[in-house]
Amino acid sequence: MNYPKAFDDLVECFKRLPGIGGKSAERLAYHVLSMDKEHVQEFASVLSTFQDKIHYCKICGHICEGDTCDICNDPTRDHSTICVVESPKDVFAMEKVKEYHGLYHVLHGTISIIDGKTMDDLNIQSLFNRLDDQIKEVIIATNPTREGETTALFLSKLLNKKNITTSRIANGLPIGSNIDYADELTLLKSLEGRKKM
Ligand SMILES: [Zn+2]
Repeated sequence: MNYPKAFDDLVECFKRLPGIGGKSAERLAYHVLSMDKEHVQEFASVLSTFQDKIHYCKICGHICEGDTCDICNDPTRDHSTICVVESPKDVFAMEKVKEYHGLYHVLHGTISIIDGKTMDDLNIQSLFNRLDDQIKEVIIATNPTREGETTALFLSKLLNKKNITTSRIANGLPIGSNIDYADELTLLKSLEGRKKM
């Protein structure tokens, strides 16, 4: 016996989310059936406006609700240092390190031979547009994976041509790991032990 069409439609929607298989999708659909109508409407409303409300910061590429993010807009931060990361998730991870007060730049990915992604597919041009006399150091904090290391290498070569002090965090982070899984202390050590590239 098949599920009613409306039930199936919701199951199919849930299945599009990462890590949600058929059984989990059905369980979620049953849960929605048991929820208060008010909560379901709130959920639907938040979901339907989510993509319109969340933008990428025009300066650094981090997620925000306006044109530019709170970090770029904060005059109390150190505007002479930029930490380059792969994704907005990594900004939140680095922010756990209370000792870091600089700015960020989000690449939105890495160079990847398998996926056919090159430097041109990343948010790099806007990074170079930011490099004025005020910028003293760029810290490359891509993940310690093959793709992350390749991206760091390419980026450092371009930055060195511009005579910008470029450093790489890595110390203490296990090879193949992701920055957003690292704890605060590991990230702090990694940042403090950064090496010039
Ligand atoms: Zn920003």
